[in-house]
Amino acid sequence: MLKDCRTVWVNCLRVIKANIGEQSFKTWFQPIVPVQLHNNVLIIQVPSQFFYEWLEEHYVDVLRKAIYQEVGPEGRLEYSIVVDNGNAQTKPRTLNLPTSHKASGPAPEATPAAALASGPMSSSARNVAAAAAAPQQQATLRNPFEASKAIDRNYLHSQLNHSYTFENYIEGDCNRLSRSAGLAVANKPGTTSFNPLMIYGGVGLGKTHLVQAIGNHIKATNVDKFVLYVSAEKFTNQFIESLRSNAVQDFANFYLLVDILILDDVQFLSGKDKTQEMFFHIFNHLHQAGKQIVMTSDRPPRDLVGLEDRLLSRFKWGLTADLQSPDFETRMAIIQNKMQQDGIDIPPQVVEYLAHSVNTNVRELEGVLISLVAQSSLNRREIDLEMAKQALRHIIEEVEAEVNLDFIQKTCAEYFGVPLDLLKAKTRKKEVVTARQVAMYFAKEHTSHSLKSIGHHFGGRDHSTVIHSVQTVSDLIDSDKSFRSTIQDLRKKFAGK
Ligand code: ADP
Ligand code: MG
Repeated sequence: MLKDCRTVWVNCLRVIKANIGEQSFKTWFQPIVPVQLHNNVLIIQVPSQFFYEWLEEHYVDVLRKAIYQEVGPEGRLEYSIVVDNGNAQTKPRTLNLPTSHKASGPAPEATPAAALASGPMSSSARNVAAAAAAPQQQATLRNPFEASKAIDRNYLHSQLNHSYTFENYIEGDCNRLSRSAGLAVANKPGTTSFNPLMIYGGVGLGKTHLVQAIGNHIKATNVDKFVLYVSAEKFTNQFIESLRSNAVQDFANFYLLVDILILDDVQFLSGKDKTQEMFFHIFNHLHQAGKQIVMTSDRPPRDLVGLEDRLLSRFKWGLTADLQSPDFETRMAIIQNKMQQDGIDIPPQVVEYLAHSVNTNVRELEGVLISLVAQSSLNRREIDLEMAKQALRHIIEEVEAEVNLDFIQKTCAEYFGVPLDLLKAKTRKKEVVTARQVAMYFAKEHTSHSLKSIGHHFGGRDHSTVIHSVQTVSDLIDSDKSFRSTIQDLRKKFAGK
């Protein structure tokens, strides 16, 4: 018997309604129009790309369940997204939802992990001419910042990873300011002077962990607040997609609903002018409304080349704090914390060995720990120092091959033609001072030594001398062209290592 698409969809809606909240149902399912049912493929029409993505991200399980029940195990779903650019010629498009790997049993129990495993659907989406011509959607509102309240905020997901908390974010000299600013923001979002809060630091130093911890803390203490974590890359892709499908309005409306916006890795916006412009407007709007903005970057704002000045100047309204490489004690504490969390037992001298040997960043440290545990269980052997050395030989050699302080000092001394030992001596001769300052600058940039430790390696100077040197070199880079090219020359030597 041939089922008609309307009846099937009405039955699907019954299943969906029984599985989700009323408001979500109204917001996300009532506007859907069934278009066609053919060869077990049900085509439904949704108002925009954004709508499609939202369904795909949040309701794929319940949709699968409904299709499985109403169309059968062979059932598939396709979307028809109406693209209206005011051009009557524009054809609606349909995009595939990959429910195609047929459920061999009731699929609905799919966990978020399983949903993820099926991959981002947009990547498998393909354009297919719509079977039925659908009515064009209304034109978008002129002002994209007239926030629509149609979306029920209680159902908005935050994209947070619950395992990133303040409790398991180990405090050390390397992160003290950032961590406490983060805590302040988490306790009083939008009402401290840390708005925006910008956290910057190299790869693997804990930026994402920290800002997610802020999000999780706010979410746990303010259930009514809409916290949203998004990487700048995802933000950009969503924005481009909204441009493509004429859904910029939906995009903007959505972001204007956010109470706490966490944008990770803003350096990704470099050179993307239109995305920056959109972010600038969202930023202004949220900031004016007293909403909290938290951002991360892999470098200090002044080094964010390709970011508009007006955006950069906004970053200065709040607090900018950095994350440094963890020192030995913090690395020990991080390893111990991780062991406790994962129920791993490693002898103290091995922990110490790891903390000594892996001094680049926390991600690397965790990677080493995991590979050690994996090797131990594969070889059914207790972890001991000998095994750790053997197992990690490869990784640790790599770490050691990285640029180190001695190499930097030697290279700078050679480059400026001054004897190496004078870098560590008291002399204040101009060419020695320059070589020394440049070497300190690169030591700060390329090694995980603290300012104190750098000073120590340059003849026992204190950390304020190092700060002064780094600042002097930075200023000269900005003001002196030939000095800048000197630095570029030298940088190549370190990059090539
Ligand atoms: P980034 O975003 O700066 O590249 P991540 O936040 O992804 O770095 O951190 C890399 C890994 O190191 C994560 O698993 C994170 O949990 C861990 N980590 C970083 N800093 C700390 C810390 N202070 N305490 C505990 N774990 C940390
Ligand atoms: Mg990160």
